[in-house]
Amino acid sequence: MKIIDRLNEDRIHISFEVFPPKTDDGIEKVLAATDEIAKLDPAFISVTYGAGGGTSKNTARIASHIKEDLHVLSLAHLTCASSTKDEVRDVIENLKTLGIENILALRGDIPANMPFPGEDRFHYAWELIQEIRQHGDFCIGAACYPEGHVENEHKADDIRYLKQKVGCGVDFLTTQMFFDNDIHYNFLYRIREAGITVPVLPGIMPITSASQMKRSQELSGTVFPRRFLAILDRFGGSPEAMRQAGIAYATDQIIDLLANGVKNIHIYSMNKPDVAAEIMRNLSEIIKC
Ligand SMILES: Cc1cc2nc3c(=O)[nH]c(=O)nc-3n(C[C@H](O)[C@H](O)[C@H](O)COP(=O)(O)OP(=O)(O)OC[C@H]3O[C@@H](n4cnc5c(N)ncnc54)[C@H](O)[C@@H]3O)c2cc1C
Repeated sequence: MKIIDRLNEDRIHISFEVFPPKTDDGIEKVLAATDEIAKLDPAFISVTYGAGGGTSKNTARIASHIKEDLHVLSLAHLTCASSTKDEVRDVIENLKTLGIENILALRGDIPANMPFPGEDRFHYAWELIQEIRQHGDFCIGAACYPEGHVENEHKADDIRYLKQKVGCGVDFLTTQMFFDNDIHYNFLYRIREAGITVPVLPGIMPITSASQMKRSQELSGTVFPRRFLAILDRFGGSPEAMRQAGIAYATDQIIDLLANGVKNIHIYSMNKPDVAAEIMRNLSEIIKC
């Protein structure tokens, strides 16, 4: 089944994300975490893609396990900047052979030691989307950035390029993590005004430790609001308290989004089924409405 068909159902959908291990040794642990997350009855589980290629084969393996063994919809991420076009084509064909119908098409970050991709590589996600469309009838998702992508000085450029990307055949968008819902509402207003009509899944990251916050900030450049910084300041020194406060903060963000008419939420669950389960417990009655 295609994820877009599920998202178009008139009910609340919560999805989760897992990431593959750095080395093959870690695969059993990730599969075990994925099995636990699947028990939460998610709309789908997405599997990230290692930009350096190191974990890319495990993305397909885990996505296939989710679909075939756990009978949950799976979304395989695929990046293109750090692989040649032929390598990317091979991955797409492998996903097709495995029966994976849903791909999140990404450019990936440009590695620090690499100049802008050469002629043998796709330069932007929109080129990858066009390529995937040629390989079969996939449901294609793509990324978007409520606070703007770090490479763009002007948000207007971001939205112009996003519109071009969606026009190449994107079925739905998932946002970069954010911690202030007003930023998301403002972004939604601007993209709808620009004529982008596909479903947008807000990406919510439960921050359960001070070190995770630092990593998230480095990766996404996101702005942490004063309310979140106060939590970190007061509870960051106690792992248990910070975990509880981080889960409560993410739950609160989700409840606000649902109360304001958002139907589909993606949770960056980071291979932590206990955190995912606690959020789902907090939402147990809310998601029935
Ligand atoms: C939901 C989500 C999931 C992610 N999953 C992964 C993952 O699994 N693995 C991973 O390595 N990374 C992942 N990332 C990170 C992502 O790869 C990086 O943010 C990357 O820098 C941009 O990827 P993109 O697909 O958004 O690129 P693009 O859409 O190609 O955009 C990249 C930049 O180029 C600009 N641009 C686009 N088109 C043009 C044009 N025609 N001319 C000039 N500029 C243009 C855009 O505005 C943007 O600044 C994810 C990000 C998100 C939000």
